[in-house]
Amino acid sequence: MAEVYITCSRCKAKVPMKGMKYNEAGDDLICQKCYAKANPSSAMLAKKEQKQHDEILQRTISIGYVCTSCGYRFHRDINYKYWQKCPWCEKLSVRKDVKKSATEVIKEAQQGEKAWKY
Ligand SMILES: [Zn+2]
Ligand SMILES: [Zn+2]
Repeated sequence: MAEVYITCSRCKAKVPMKGMKYNEAGDDLICQKCYAKANPSSAMLAKKEQKQHDEILQRTISIGYVCTSCGYRFHRDINYKYWQKCPWCEKLSVRKDVKKSATEVIKEAQQGEKAWKY
């Protein structure tokens, strides 16, 4: 089968059709070289934004816990499996501290991160 060649709308080079990519707007075909030139920065930026978003999400889904045995309050990710165990007295008497406001939780999280490192 003969290779079909198309002229890239950016650099005017003749390239095999299977090597063509749609541009950012999706209305034109450009060669892979032009595509790579047009996209690495935006791809990297998207990744960075995604990472920041994930970090914010991780922070916001952290919730406060309180030990009913010693009164120790701490802060863990909502998916943390061993939250029932108090990191201070190691008793399994921890319950979720739901009474606090979101700002208090965040405040304690920041303090907790400093005081309690994994
Ligand atoms: Zn091109
Ligand atoms: Zn405790």
